[in-house]
Amino acid sequence: MRDIGKVNHTLEILDHFELRAKKSFGQNFLVDINIIRNIVECAHIKENTCVVEIGPGIGGLTEYIARAAKKVIAYDIDERLMDVLSYSLSEYPNVEVRLQDFLTVDLHSLAEEVKDYEHLIIISNLPYYITSEILTKIMISPIKIDCFVGMMQKEVALKLTSKEKSPLRLLMDCVGEVNYEFTVTANVFIPKPNVDSAVISVTFKEMNKENLADFYHFLQACFKQRRKTIYNNLSQVAQDKDKLKDILKTCNIDPKLRAEQLSLDQFKELYDLI
Ligand code: SAM
Repeated sequence: MRDIGKVNHTLEILDHFELRAKKSFGQNFLVDINIIRNIVECAHIKENTCVVEIGPGIGGLTEYIARAAKKVIAYDIDERLMDVLSYSLSEYPNVEVRLQDFLTVDLHSLAEEVKDYEHLIIISNLPYYITSEILTKIMISPIKIDCFVGMMQKEVALKLTSKEKSPLRLLMDCVGEVNYEFTVTANVFIPKPNVDSAVISVTFKEMNKENLADFYHFLQACFKQRRKTIYNNLSQVAQDKDKLKDILKTCNIDPKLRAEQLSLDQFKELYDLI
């Protein structure tokens, strides 16, 4: 079907398959072709690109990704959607739908599988109930990704692109350039969610990603109790408290500061010494 994401087409598909959106899977189908186009544009898909989509739903966004990318691998957790997607996306042989919880996908094997494509991009109208789990999985992964474009609750998108520090925000800053792309009103979804949404993008930089998971755990330890000082938070995990004091001194970090008062470079320096 063409333009799956038009309201009448989406309703037709839902009706034909007697499908009701499952709240527990965070299902809100996007029904605005302009927004779909804008999301795809944010990804700047080049030739020979493989796009991984998380949660294709009934295929509205997938269709437009498939028109721009050489290959699309789309993971959805809901088995009811498998028949729907083979029907709605039958005109797009470059789309491969996989029934799998994205959180269980082995990204190393996936990267190996798609290594012949020049670019790897991840796009998702995210299932909001696991936004941070999915983002963390992508950000700490050592595989080479060009860019991530994701739609999430507006509040979350604003937080992740504001100056307010959090482990995830710092992790995203560490791996790439984060941008708030645009706001999406709740009216363009079926069913209509209670909140507005927004699209953000992360353009990854070339870097050594070996220790990212460990660095993220370190950031989590630094922010464990936000009101406590960096020294107090880190002393919960440090074996040797005198050594911790020395390291803070070497990094020129006042032990009385709170984590949110440190810069990304200071966290990196501290992490390298701890
Ligand atoms: N992409 C479609 C669109 O834009 O209309 C649907 C987006 S809907 C907000 C989120 C999709 O993620 C649903 O299709 C849902 O079944 C799927 N989903 C939920 N949890 C998932 C998980 N753990 N792994 C993969 N897909 C998941």
